[in-house]
Amino acid sequence: KTVLISGATGFIGSRLAASLSGAGHHVIALIRNPAKAEMLPPPVTLITSLDQLAADTQIDTIVNLAGEPIGNGLWSEAKRAKIISSRIDMTGEVVKLIARLDRKPEVLVSGSAIGWYGLWADQVLTESAKSHACFSHELCAAWEKAARPAEELGVRVVYLRIGLVLGTEGGFITRMLTPFEFGLGGPLGTGRQWMSWIERDDLIRLIAYVMATPDLTGPVNGTAPIPVTNAKFTEELGRRLHRPAVFRIPGGLLRRIGGGFADELLLGGQRVLPNKALSRGFVFRHETLRSAFEAIL
Ligand code: NDP
Repeated sequence: KTVLISGATGFIGSRLAASLSGAGHHVIALIRNPAKAEMLPPPVTLITSLDQLAADTQIDTIVNLAGEPIGNGLWSEAKRAKIISSRIDMTGEVVKLIARLDRKPEVLVSGSAIGWYGLWADQVLTESAKSHACFSHELCAAWEKAARPAEELGVRVVYLRIGLVLGTEGGFITRMLTPFEFGLGGPLGTGRQWMSWIERDDLIRLIAYVMATPDLTGPVNGTAPIPVTNAKFTEELGRRLHRPAVFRIPGGLLRRIGGGFADELLLGGQRVLPNKALSRGFVFRHETLRSAFEAIL
């Protein structure tokens, strides 16, 4: 199969490109920085614009992940605008490409996040759950909406609502390690907020599963089957690192420093279950956080 990936130099995309090309697929990576693309394995075809693809190019799958990073700084008005517009613009370009391709791709796996559901307490959220309004919801709803015209073009569209991705060298876990190394790890705020995580290679395998499962459409939660609270997450991380995890950071302090970013990404959360994947028999290698930490740390 030929797979076009946007965001192929990212934490998820780079691993996806390596995995798919290792499995014998032809990967076309849409990149913006050729220096960064050196990490991608050589059989990958690099393009810097979708205009480089002629109408008769055969593409079987598109995985659309590109976007301004969300978790690397405060959400100023300018940052929020960039977070949204980078995703909407890229998705719009992907839809335009699909419109002009002679032969349409079979599936578009379009990025989204569990932030689509908004902030919740302990309620269990599956793909049929409703949403609460907040910036994360606004972003994910706009991102999913931008991909919807692909459905009218006859493409199967899966909106992959990705959880907190755990892997080595990057992602949010790397940022969590530093306080633990100094013995300052601990829960954020009450620690009762839910963290719906997924181990990165499980997410990659889920994307491959989505590609190969023709009747899977619409929202699909990309999270492991056993989400945990922030308190449990920090306890498990401390256990794995043999470091204390008792240094609680007050929510008020985080809120004062981090504003909406802290409210939604650090102090808020959602308890998400991957119902669609589980109901079809997808098997996660890492169902428990302990198993994921053993693999990556
Ligand atoms: P990264 O930040 O690691 O990678 C982002 C990718 O998007 C990079 O390839 C980057 O290119 C590209 N990119 C950034 N800004 C733009 C832009 N303005 N125009 C075009 N391309 C751009 O993200 P992840 O791999 O971690 O995540 C992939 C997607 O999944 C993201 O959209 C993210 O929001 C979403 N997601 C990720 C989660 C996670 O825990 N990792 C959780 C939920 C959702 P370059 O290398 O040139 O900067």
